[in-house]
Amino acid sequence: MLAEKFNTFLFDLDGVIYLEGKVLPGVLESLQQLREDQKHIRFLTNDPRPERSEMAEKLRSIGIEVDQKEIVTSGWASAQFLKQESIENVFVVGSQSLTTELQNAGLICVTEDQAEAVVVGSDIDVGFRDVYMACMQIHGGAQFIATNVDPTFPTSKGPAPATGSVVAAIKTAVSRPPIVIGKPEAYMFDAALKGLDKTRAVMIGDTPESDIQGAINTGIASVLVKSDQHNGHPASLENGHNADYTITSLRELFTRI
Ligand SMILES: [Mg+2]
Repeated sequence: MLAEKFNTFLFDLDGVIYLEGKVLPGVLESLQQLREDQKHIRFLTNDPRPERSEMAEKLRSIGIEVDQKEIVTSGWASAQFLKQESIENVFVVGSQSLTTELQNAGLICVTEDQAEAVVVGSDIDVGFRDVYMACMQIHGGAQFIATNVDPTFPTSKGPAPATGSVVAAIKTAVSRPPIVIGKPEAYMFDAALKGLDKTRAVMIGDTPESDIQGAINTGIASVLVKSDQHNGHPASLENGHNADYTITSLRELFTRI
């Protein structure tokens, strides 16, 4: 069966583990089976707003047992990148929790002084002043780091602006592309796979452009979970690359050959 082929499972969260705050069918028993089979599990989200501890709490509140170390957010992955680059001072555009996550990693978040890097996330309170300050920091020599470039996230009233929209505003003003950390860039996957066997890892996600493309960029296998979200959307990549497997429920990890 499919689950036997791998020993490390990277899961996207929204649309794979839960949807609109509710656990999707088959998820709890599938995760439990993977735990019993001693598989390694990581949860990857491009959402840069929460701390890992907050995301772990959210999962526990819907019945999913998880260790904080198994959570990989684009904010935490950005912190790992900055540490690797020996960057100490950062200017943050994003949530208070993103600032805290970066501080937890030992980074100093400055507001007035010149920073070595600008880290861009998103938050309902991010405003034009933040965009302005970020541009001045970059003009002053700071590196331009995007936690991710997802343009929007879905709401019942239509797509809402996400990190990619904030990044686009800054990019327009500084005429320079950012270094991108989150899916589909390999950096986030490599951070998730640290210490694990990449050759027996699989990414399970519902968005071809981030989850499946990211697996391809990282050189690992991929499983596309087709959900109702794909009504009216193509479930494959424009470049013709597809997931290695397609399933409709995580239960199929244990029933598919
Ligand atoms: Mg998703």
